Amino acid sequence: MNRHRQIYEGKAKILYATDDPDVLLAYFKDDATAFNAQKRGTIVGKGEINCQIAAHLFREIEAQGIATHYIDCPAADEMRVKAVQIMPIEVVVRNIAAGSLCQQTGIALGTILPQPLVEFFYKNDALGDPLLTRDRLLLMELATSAQLDILHAKAIQINHILQNFFKQCAITLVDFKIEFGVDKHQQILLADEISPDSCRLWLTGEPDPDLRVLDKDRFRRDLGNVEDAYRAVLARVLGVRE
Ligand code: UDP
Repeated sequence: MNRHRQIYEGKAKILYATDDPDVLLAYFKDDATAFNAQKRGTIVGKGEINCQIAAHLFREIEAQGIATHYIDCPAADEMRVKAVQIMPIEVVVRNIAAGSLCQQTGIALGTILPQPLVEFFYKNDALGDPLLTRDRLLLMELATSAQLDILHAKAIQINHILQNFFKQCAITLVDFKIEFGVDKHQQILLADEISPDSCRLWLTGEPDPDLRVLDKDRFRRDLGNVEDAYRAVLARVLGVRE
């Protein structure tokens, strides 16, 4: 694959232009960061694993009627995607309390939420990706009111699809972060990636709070066997019949 010009390098991916201005190539790196890049490391094989998991989940979501930027994977760690303008909003959906929700509200880790909670964070490393209110989002003109309604509705639908999918893998979807982009037709597409870097995934039925973790919390909390956990997620995802 002719990669052409590098147009962006993020913490986990590099984006290249292609011959087609409407198509970009995302290369998934093994680099791992946490706590706003204060902690850095490498998870061997992560690029390929996350690219394959994300591709599978994008296909599943697309098949259920939600438009995504995914096109195909020319190599195990490369994904062709539709060119979009990424909205600077991290949309988090939670089914079970963990992470910043527990830290900021005092709700106990592992509490099953009565209904999915959708939260919007400002994608801005310099400001530490702060939690935003709807009124702040409108004040900052990060999205229109109609766009926020679309993001909320899509987030709930995607959560439903992913929850059902991971259930078949005997994995519990605790929470996840997604990003959206706007294409040249002003359509909102699910973009970025969905992987153990961006989801909390627990082995269903495993009571041990360390053993159950199959996601980037293994890296964040130095629990070890990070690569094994990511590989286990991929194996389970591939094991579900399409
Ligand atoms: N998340 C992410 N990127 C971020 C922040 C969060 O992918 O920059 C994911 C994280 O992996 C988890 C969910 O979003 O699955 C909720 O994260 P939370 O707000 O609890 O923040 P954390 O405590 O993980 O920093």
